[in-house]
Formats: sequence, C-alpha cells, structure tokens
Amino acid sequence: MKVTEIMRRKMCFSFEVFPPKAEQPLEPLLQTLEHLYRYEPDFVSCTYGAGGTNAGRNVAFCQAIKESGRTIPVTHYTCIGNSREQIKADLQRYLSLSVDHILALRGDFPKGWTETMGDFDYANELVEFIKENFPQFTIAVAGYPEKHFQAPSLEADIAHLRVKQDAGADFIMTQLCYDLDQFRRWMEKIRQAGIHLPIDAGVMPVLTKEPTIRMAVSNGSAVPRELAELIARYGENPEDFKKAGKEYTVRLIYEFVNAGIDGLHIYTLNRWQDVSEILEASGIRGKIRSGE
Ligand code: FAD
Repeated sequence: MKVTEIMRRKMCFSFEVFPPKAEQPLEPLLQTLEHLYRYEPDFVSCTYGAGGTNAGRNVAFCQAIKESGRTIPVTHYTCIGNSREQIKADLQRYLSLSVDHILALRGDFPKGWTETMGDFDYANELVEFIKENFPQFTIAVAGYPEKHFQAPSLEADIAHLRVKQDAGADFIMTQLCYDLDQFRRWMEKIRQAGIHLPIDAGVMPVLTKEPTIRMAVSNGSAVPRELAELIARYGENPEDFKKAGKEYTVRLIYEFVNAGIDGLHIYTLNRWQDVSEILEASGIRGKIRSGE
C-alpha cells in the first residue's frame, strides 16, 4: 500500500524517528518502535544526516521497519555532497530492501558550506531524478508554512514547492509550525498556487525549554504568545514545563487536524513515553481511526 492511497481513503497517522549514531546499538530504537506500533502508524519516517553521515543506520533502521511488516518505512534523503552515481546506488539499495517511500530533500548545509557540493542544488532536481530513474518510489517533499528560512518571500518559497510538485512529488511533509493562523493561510495560498498535493502536517511536541526555542529559531519559525507565555511561566521548572508543554501539544494537534490536513505526523524525538502520554491524553489516534 502507498501512503498516498492511505491519504485518499482517510487521514494518515505517522511518526518520525532518528537513527542512532554509528557506534551506538540499534536495539533501543527498535524497542521505541515497538512502543510506537501500539498506535498503528500508517508509516514511520527515518531522518537522514545531510552528507550521508550515519546513512548506514538509516538504512538498517528502514530495513528493520520493513521486515517487521507492521508499517511503511519512509526514508529521508538529501542532495548534500551526493553525485548522481552515489544517489543511484543509494536508491537501488533502498529498493533492494523494498523501501520505496522517500522524503526527497536538499538538506541543510553543514557548517561552513554554502552549497550542496553535489550534483543537485535543490530538492526539485532530486525529485525529477528519482521520478526518471526509479518511478517505483512514492516521493514526499518538504513544505514550509512559515516559508523556508533562506527563501526571499513566502510566495517565492511556494513557487519552489510548486516546482517540486511539477517534478513529480506525491505529497508534502511540513516543517514544525506553532503558528496555526499562518499554517491555515499557507494552506490557502498553496492551493491558490495550484498545489494540490496532500499535506502531512508535522507536529513537534513541546517537552523541554531550550530545544523548543532552538528548533523554532533555527527554522525561522514563530513562537506564538501562548507558547512564549508557557516558556516564561514554566521555563525554570522542567517538570512543570513538560506538563504544560504536553497540554499545549494536545491543543496543537487538534488545531492541525481541524485545519483540514491529510495526515498527522508526530516528530517523536525518539521519546516514546512522552509521545504516548500526549497521544493518550488527546485520544487523537482513536478519533482519526474512527474518522470522527
Ligand atoms: P529545497 O526545496 O531545495 O529548498 C531550499 C531553499 O531553496 C528554499 O529556500 C527554497 O525556497 C529555495 N529554492 C528551491 N528551489 C529553488 C530554485 N530552483 N531556485 C532558487 N531557490 C530555490 N534535513 C536533513 O538533513 N535530514 C533530514 O532527515 C531532514 N528531515 C526533514 C523533514 C521535514 C519534514 C522537513 C520539513 C525538513 C527536513 N530536513 C532534514 C531539513 C531540510 O533538509 C532543510 O529544511 C533544507 O534547508 C531544505 O530542504 P528542502 O528539501 O526543503 O530544499
């Protein structure tokens, strides 16, 4: 089954995890996965270090998901430092493991880089290459409700998203966003720009103060007043912060679902306990399953 087929039938529900470093065992993440399977994700996506650092663990993990037969693995993949030949070899490897869903990304430049240092400069070129050479893949691309931080304007960024659609992308996975008014405006704008791809909305749980601020700022994302107040009020007390952050995340999940998305994608940060608590408190999995 393809993720796009699932999205045509119902709202999709999925998780993102990141693989361990090369020298660390895979086992803890496999256990995390067992806990996450309880929520019957339609797919689990696995991040990919730009430049291919740690790519082996990404492959091993996607393979483990595939072999479990419990859900669809979606690998992330970036252009950074990659030649056409290398990309071909990597994609063949995924396909040999029956991993045929990919989030095609340019990737962030490693420190000191100002370009991809590979054969492709932008994600749309990677999408086109995959479509031409490996049409078996279902291809997701990144979307930025608050615009990508390097784009000169939201309109320019949406135009680039349109190019990714025209190159053959199948669905959009969105960057973290806490500003739901902006998210709804972006949805409207991309539809007006002729982008009809299904939207899989990424939800970043609010669990700890510094990473929450760091991730928002590094992506050029807004911290709305409600979240800023939460940080101001509970920032010095990690336990209270996490409790309030989880409640905030539950509200956020419902705002996304009510915005008319096609899929809900939880960035788990590999923290299955926290994610489980959020899902239990929200009851969202049952609601999505029953189509309420
Ligand atoms: P592009 O679509 O190529 O866009 C990059 C910038 O260039 C944008 O500003 C865009 O407006 C502009 N642009 C696009 N096309 C053109 C063009 N033809 N001419 C001029 N400008 C253009 N990174 C990782 O390294 N590993 C991961 O696993 C990972 N997972 C992610 C998951 C999600 C859901 C998201 C949203 C992002 C993820 N990222 C990951 C981050 C991503 O790699 C960065 O945001 C990166 O900076 C941009 O990647 P992109 O594919 O959106 O690039």
